[in-house]
Order: sequence, then structure tokens, then C-alpha cells
Amino acid sequence: MIDKLDKETLEAWLDNVSSYAEDGRVADYIPALSKRDPNELAASIYYLDGDCVKAGKVDCCFTLQSISKVLSLALALIDNGEDYVFDRVGMEPTGDPFHSIYRLEQHRPSKPLNPMINAGALAVSDMIRGGSIEEKVGRLLSFLHELTDDHTIQVNEGVADSEYETAFLNRSLLYYLKQHGVIAGDVEETLKVYTHQCSIDVNVQSLSKIGAVFANEGRDLNSGRQIIPKHLARICKTFMVTCGMYDASGSFAIKVGLPAKSGVSGGVMASLNGFGGIAVYGPALDDKGNSVVGLKLLEVLSNRYDLSIF
Ligand code: GLN
Repeated sequence: MIDKLDKETLEAWLDNVSSYAEDGRVADYIPALSKRDPNELAASIYYLDGDCVKAGKVDCCFTLQSISKVLSLALALIDNGEDYVFDRVGMEPTGDPFHSIYRLEQHRPSKPLNPMINAGALAVSDMIRGGSIEEKVGRLLSFLHELTDDHTIQVNEGVADSEYETAFLNRSLLYYLKQHGVIAGDVEETLKVYTHQCSIDVNVQSLSKIGAVFANEGRDLNSGRQIIPKHLARICKTFMVTCGMYDASGSFAIKVGLPAKSGVSGGVMASLNGFGGIAVYGPALDDKGNSVVGLKLLEVLSNRYDLSIF
């Protein structure tokens, strides 16, 4: 049993690592993200008994970005089953940046290596059930409402438009995947679903609660209802370990040792079975696209409280 932190302790840890924000840069390839303040920091721990400890700018909202890849994967697996999903996207980590295109040409038949890189996540977005973009995005939002019990969670349309208008690389990945029969739907529609899922706005409390549901083997913390089947929650957490921090997943496993997923907005979600979920927000990123403050806070917490799963 790991001791619970109180608010003052979490505030102190966050304060301790806040200066690391100077070592990173806010993402600017999605224009709307470039406006964020690198010193706006927040953290939250959601314990399995429902206690939540928060620190920093806790009301600050940020978009999920790549953290949404875990949730779209969970929903696509619920919708289609493992065989369908893993016929179209692989299970192996890459040592490449998240938006890399070049491995797609190295495999025949072409198949993105895993669902945590953009190519794989775009293929996964194509698998979400629904007759329209609105229905698919709506189903993802409902899924998030169920996981967080926060029914106010919405898409930040400004960020979604900003990404959609500038997503030339993701369009290229999608056209490539379409050519090779990996995606069934229309390229622009799938890109809309993807850019909307990436632009879902959350705060650290909601994000840490999602981590806690994964830590609770997919069950709602209050009712115990199975929101994500246990074996699918396990698949998602395994991808978080092997690929969740992009091409820094190996060093993260050594330094922190938690299933985690980051996004270029600066959010990080971690999940520890039997403990709960941890979320950190700090928009300054390192050169791999991970939050510098997020990485550092998770590292100090993991070391101090012995959180590594290894
Ligand atoms: N929406 C972003 C993109 O596709 C997500 C990337 C990320 O968070 N690493 O570029």
C-alpha cells in the first residue's frame, strides 16, 4: 500500500520541478497550441477509492492530443474486437518520431506498427463505429463522459480547426493508408474524426480519473461497472508502456516505469494498477514531444513513492 499524498505535498513537488519548463518549447506546428503559457502547470492524482489530490492551475483545460489515442483504441477494440483491429495495425514499438511516415513503406502488406504513432492512430480512428463524423466523435465524447463522469467535456473547436487546416503530414499518412487498403473510410472524414478526438478539452482531474479507471481494470470507480473490458484495458496499458511516450518510451520505462501516454498539448496520463491515475499538464515539450515538467514530476514521484511496475 502506497501512502497517499496530501495537497501541500503535491504542490511542493510540482513547485520543485516547475523550473524545468524553461528547458522545453510549446508545440507550434498546430497554431492554436502555440498560444499556451509554458508556466501554466497542474497535476492531479486520482486514487481508486475516489480521493483526488490536485495542485497548480487545476482549472486549466488542455486538449488530449495523442492521449486520445489510448481512448480511441479502447473504443475501436470494443467496437470491432482484437482480430479486426490488429489485422490493420501492429503491436510493435518504433524508435521513430510519432508522425514518422517512412516505416509504412518497409512492411508488406503495409500496416502501421502500433496504434500510438500517428499512422496507427489514424487507422484506429477509421475503425470507430458511426454513420457520420458527428456520430463517431459523439461516441468518443460519450465514452469520455462515462470514464470521467464529467458530462461537460467537449471538443475545443478552435484547436480542431487549427489542426485540421494544417494537418498536411497526417493527410499524407491517411492517403498512403487508403491507397494500401488499411482504412475503409474517406480520408478527409477520418482526418476530421482524428483532429476532433485530439482536440477534446480536459483538466488534470478528469485525466487522472481516466488513468484511475484503467488502473481499476476498466471498472467505474463508484459502481464497479465494467466500462472497458479488463483484457482490453490491459492491452491499452501495455501499449502505454511500450509506445506511450513515443520514441522516449524506453528511457521513460527505466526512469519512471509506469504505463503512460503523453500529448503535444503538454498533458501526460499515467496509470498504476491498485493505486490510481496521475495526470500532469505542462505545455513546454522536449524534442520528442513530451512535457518536460510532466516527465520530471512523474520521475520524482515514481522514485520517491516507489511507483515503478518493474
Ligand atoms: N494531434 C497531434 C498530431 O497528430 C497529436 C500528436 C501528439 O500529441 N503527439 O500531430
